[in-house]
Amino acid sequence: MSTIAANLQAVEATIEAACLAAGRPRSAVQLLAVSKTFPAQAVLEAAASGQRAFGENYLQEGVDKIAAVAKARPELRLEWHFIGPIQSNKTRPIATHFDWVHTVDRLKIAQRLAEQRPPERGILNVCLQVNISGEASKSGVRPDELPALAQAVAALPNLRLRGLMAIPEPQADPALQRAPFARLRALAQELGKAGIAVDTLSMGMSADMGAAVMEGATIVRVGSAIFGARHYE
Ligand SMILES: *Cc1c(COP(=O)(O)O)cnc(C)c1O
Repeated sequence: MSTIAANLQAVEATIEAACLAAGRPRSAVQLLAVSKTFPAQAVLEAAASGQRAFGENYLQEGVDKIAAVAKARPELRLEWHFIGPIQSNKTRPIATHFDWVHTVDRLKIAQRLAEQRPPERGILNVCLQVNISGEASKSGVRPDELPALAQAVAALPNLRLRGLMAIPEPQADPALQRAPFARLRALAQELGKAGIAVDTLSMGMSADMGAAVMEGATIVRVGSAIFGARHYE
C-alpha cells in the first residue's frame, strides 16, 4: 500500500472514532484532502484510494494542479475547494475553477465571485471564514459582523452560502481544542435562528480533526496527516 493510501486509512479511522464518540453518522463528515504544496501525482494517488474532494490554498498552484489532474484522468469527477486567502483582483480564476470557496470574509469578494462565476459551472458553494481566535489571526470576519455579512452573501446570485469556516489558534492539548469549534457551531446556530440556513461547518485539520468532529464539523480539512510534512508554504 502507498503511504498516502495508508495515511488515508488512518485519517478515516480517526474520523470514524470521533463520529462514534459523538453519536454522529460517518456520512455527516466530509474529508477534504488538502493537497497544497504536493504535486498532481499525490492527488492522483489519493484519488486511487477513493478520495474525491481536494483543497488548495495557493491560486496558481491550485489551477495548474486541477488542469494536470484533469488531463491525466479526465474521467475522475473531483471536487475542488479553495481554502486560501483571497486577493480581490484574483477572484476570477477561483470562480472559474473551484466548486467551493471556504475563505470569504468580506462582501466585496463574494460580489466578485458571484459576478464572475461562469453560468456553465452552476452554483459556487461558499463558506464565510470567521476570526474565532480574536486578535491572534488577521483573516476572517469578526463574529459581531458575521450576521450582516451572511445576510448579504446569502442574497447574491450564483453563490450558495453553505456555512462557516475557522482556523483556530493551534492548541496541542486536546481538552482545549474544542472550545473554539463550539463557538463556531454556536455562531452557525445563531444564523439559523435569524433565518439564514447553513448546513456546513468547515473546521478541524490534521492536529485537531477529532475535536472538530466532536463539535459538529461537517468538513474537516486534512493535509499533512494524508500527504506528509510540507517542505514549503
Ligand atoms: C494547510 C491547511 C489545512 C491543512 O493543514 P494540516 O495541518 O496539514 O492538516 C487546512 N486548512 C487550511 C485553511 C490550510 O491552510
